[in-house]
Amino acid sequence: NSFTESKLSDELLECCKNFNKPSPIQANSWPFLLHGRDFIGIAKTGSGKTLAFGIPAMNHILNKRKNKTTKKMTPLCLVLSPTRELAQQIYDVLSEAGKPSGVRSVCVYGGTSKGPQISALKSGVDIVIGTPGRLKDLIEMGVCQLQEVSFVVLDEADRMLDMGFEPEVRSILSKTSSVRQVVMFSATWPLAVNQLSQEFMDPNPVKV
Ligand code: AMP
Repeated sequence: NSFTESKLSDELLECCKNFNKPSPIQANSWPFLLHGRDFIGIAKTGSGKTLAFGIPAMNHILNKRKNKTTKKMTPLCLVLSPTRELAQQIYDVLSEAGKPSGVRSVCVYGGTSKGPQISALKSGVDIVIGTPGRLKDLIEMGVCQLQEVSFVVLDEADRMLDMGFEPEVRSILSKTSSVRQVVMFSATWPLAVNQLSQEFMDPNPVKV
């Protein structure tokens, strides 16, 4: 019910300083996500879900970087979004929230030139936020490497599958590290989303 209770580092608490207390989805996800559990959240935009997964993602990254188990250039966290608008919205929140701790985010989506996105990826990044089509292109070009990605978020998973991105989502997920924490947010829970979760998540993910 309070931010201090979450035992987050000061630099992560810094990005919550404008809020009185964690939103319900944050209060109900952080304890599990900070312990490395796979997580399914049925939540809508406006519930504070971006920081619900964003803060644990940054905590994961800071731990990995501290232990120096990873190269500095390739991403450790991937966020998949069905639309460019949502991707940009997530990027805005995470790039701001990452400032105190130095967590670097980049956003990639179709309908615009690849050049600046490639440069951003090459300059070194911790979190890649993207739409499935463009991300798959960049992976195939060899400019986006996911082998060290050990924290994966599928945002609006139901919408992503409705839009026909299932093959891209599967292909992208299969390129991430086999040792990974997976988080799915969805407004509804249709069969196709359930199948995807069974394929890519622990047998017993937490459902909130
Ligand atoms: P989201 O669901 O992530 O799109 O967040 C919706 C809005 O809620 C954003 O404008 C956030 O800045 C805001 N927000 C996130 N966490 C909290 C919180 N703990 N208390 C109040 N507002 C929040």
